[in-house]
Parts: sequence; structure tokens; C-alpha cells
Amino acid sequence: MYPTPVDAYGRYEPVTLKNIHRHPAYRRLPESLRRELEVAAQVLPFRTNPYVLDELIDWDRAPEDPIFQLVFPQRGMLDSETYARVEAALTSGDREALVEAVWNARRAMNPHPAGQLTHNVPELDGRKLDGLQHKYAETVLFFPAGGQTCHAYCTYCFRWAQFVGDRELKFESSQVDDLVRYLRAHPEVTDVLVTGGDPMVMKTRLLARYLEPLLEVETLRTIRIGSKSLAYWPMRFTTDPDAAEVLRLFERVAAAGKQLAFMAHFSHPRELETEQVQAAIQNLLATGAVVRTQAPLIRHVNDDADVWAEKWRREVRLGLIPYYMFVERDTGPKRYFEVPLAEAQRIFADAYRQVSGLARTVRGPSMSAFPGKVRVVGTAEVAGEKVFVLEFLQARDPAWVGRPFFAKFSEEATWLDELEPALGEKRFFFEG
Ligand SMILES: *Cc1c(COP(=O)(O)O)cnc(C)c1O
Ligand code: SF4
Repeated sequence: MYPTPVDAYGRYEPVTLKNIHRHPAYRRLPESLRRELEVAAQVLPFRTNPYVLDELIDWDRAPEDPIFQLVFPQRGMLDSETYARVEAALTSGDREALVEAVWNARRAMNPHPAGQLTHNVPELDGRKLDGLQHKYAETVLFFPAGGQTCHAYCTYCFRWAQFVGDRELKFESSQVDDLVRYLRAHPEVTDVLVTGGDPMVMKTRLLARYLEPLLEVETLRTIRIGSKSLAYWPMRFTTDPDAAEVLRLFERVAAAGKQLAFMAHFSHPRELETEQVQAAIQNLLATGAVVRTQAPLIRHVNDDADVWAEKWRREVRLGLIPYYMFVERDTGPKRYFEVPLAEAQRIFADAYRQVSGLARTVRGPSMSAFPGKVRVVGTAEVAGEKVFVLEFLQARDPAWVGRPFFAKFSEEATWLDELEPALGEKRFFFEG
């Protein structure tokens, strides 16, 4: 077991570029591979922990191992020119050149897709409420200031801009008072989705300060928590110093008549295999929480129908409810991870066909695009033309939901903005 120095608050020491060289299995990787990681991690966030390293990664299969790909930045995630520039700056020891190369690379990676910074920020009394996003009528997203990091970072994460110390790009808020006032002014909002980063990185006392005021809002039905902690640090719900306290907090949510909907991010069935995660799930479910699962479809990590089928089967066996399969957003190292929509839909359908109806609660593949969440339902031939059949699962205008529409079939398209209307239409119906 990797030594895990723990501080006075019971926190483990995160594993970063500074200390990864102490890990025995990592040290056995070829030096060239370690160098590639060091270069790529100048640009992309790298942070992991002993549980991921020792319980989830199969080191005999690195670097192809899916969990290794999930947390270790790879050379192929940077284009070759960027890689060369960053490596040269790193080798030369020229700090300024390195900082410049790194920031150019980051800026080129579209850190805030789908209008996150400029759109959907709600207002109260003419003031913008930072740390909130309100896109779909019934659900408000809340980004608590204390939850803007994670127990480990996913290499494909579209929120990576928040983790790399970019103060300007970072949006966060400790304004739970604003949230409560906003909810009171908007009784149509039934759900608050607490997200990040990962809200479960917060100590329970801090999390309680965010959640408890919400229990007083009568129109609110559901508190969702978007989290990868079950996959990356299940001890949050078992042996951490404030694990019992967080379970009590979730029980208080249920006792107040609200549903705690835990939106668990699981990328691969291996994350569901360990004793630790299974104990954590049991504890979580015993509080009355409902656990739904979601993840993006990612090349090198889970681009395989059997992997998804196995993931959903295991989830159902453990009492979880499969919820979403997402298409990777157009940010970060997208070229490395992207799966074309046509292939994504085949993977989804192949997996879906293999599982019992109890796992067919899952929906996807879904793009969280500017106009809404768009699902690729399938392909069809209409009037002699091969088309994608698409639908909105969520939309800026709720009237768009439940209205199938068509795009020209493409084997290469990876996102909504690469699709063209089919059947002689000039624009999609939602483009007005
Ligand atoms: C996905 C999403 C939600 C929640 O959508 P559900 O389909 O209800 O899970 C809310 N707000 C935003 C911005 C989202 O992307
Ligand atoms: S856990 Fe979520 S927010 Fe954190 S790095 Fe992974 S995808 Fe991003």
C-alpha cells in the first residue's frame, strides 16, 4: 500500500506531479512514459490519490489501462506542436516560456463550452448571481466555493479550467443566501443540483452549511449532488473522520421531506468492484438517498458496449439507477477522447440491448449543447435519405422536448454543431 500521510483533519495527501515519483508501480513505468506525463500535466490538471492508484488501476496494463487513461494525462492529449513547445520550455528551464506555452495551449482548448460563462447566470434584483446557473426551468445548478476540486481529476474533464488556478475563468460562490432567495422567487425550481468540481470534497460541516438552509425552502423537492467520490474516494462514506456525520446529514435531508438524489459519476465497471465502494453505496442508500449514475463515453476509457452493459448491470445489482450516457463536450483534449456520434449511438444501443429493463432507465448518448440536451436516438432512412433521429431530453424552451428531428447522417460528426438538417430543411426547427 502506498504510504498515505494524513493531516490533523484526517485528510490524505493528494498525489500530484510533486510526489507521484514516490509511488512504486509508477516508478516501474518506462522513463519515456513518465516524461510524457510530466509534459502533458503542465497543461492538463493532474491529481489523484492512493485509492485510485492502488485499488483501481491495473498497472500491468498501463498505459492502456482505462483507469490509468482516466487520471494520467497522456502525450496524445496535446497536439504534437503544443507538446513539442511545452517539452522544449520544460527542458530549457525557461519559466516564462513554459508559462506562455502552457497558457496558449489551455486557451486553445475552449475551457467553457456551451456558453457557461456568459449565459444561464441568473439574476436577482438586477444583480448577477455568480456560482448559480439556471438553464432548464426546474433545475438550478449551484457551485459552492468549497467544492471546486475533486478527489482525483479526470483527464477528459470539461471543468478543468477551474482546477488549474485560472482565477479569471473560475466561477464560484459561497452565496447560499442568494440561492435561497432565488429559489423563493422561483417556485418552479424543484431541484437544486450541487456540483463542482465535487461537492463531496467538502468537510461535512461545510457541506451542511450549504444544504441545511435549502431544507427550509418548501417548493424545493430534490437536492441533487453531482459527485465522483464513490468512484474516487468511497471512504468519504465509510472510514473518513466525518463519514458518519455526512450520512447523518443525508438522513436529515430525507427527514425534512426532500429527496437526496446522489448523481454518481462512474466511468467504468471496475470502479464498482472494490469492497470499499460497495460498503459506501450501502451506507449511502441506507440514509434514504437515491443514487443515479452517469458518465461520458470516452475513447480509451469506456468506448466499448460490453463495458457499458457490465457497468449498468453492476449498478443495478448494487441498487443504483443508470441515468445518463453523455457525449464528450467540445473542450479539453477532445480530439483524443472523442467518439463520433454514429459510433456512440451504436455503442449505446449495443449495450442497452444486453441489459434487463431495470437498467434501461439510462438515456443517451446525450450532448449537453447550447440549445439543450440532445439525444441521438438512432439512424433511419426517410424518403431515401439516411438520417440521424434526434430528440431533446432537456431544452432551453421546454416546448422543444419530445419532438423528434432529423439531421443528415454522418459517420464523422462528433457534436451537434457539425450536424446539418436533413430532408431539404434549411435549419433545425429550434434555430427559428
Ligand atoms: C443536465 C443538466 C441539468 C439536469 O437535467 P436533468 O435531465 O433533469 O438531469 C440541469 N441543468 C443543466 C445546465 C444541465 O446541463
Ligand atoms: S470528478 Fe467530475 S469535476 Fe472532477 S475531474 Fe472528474 S469529471 Fe471533472
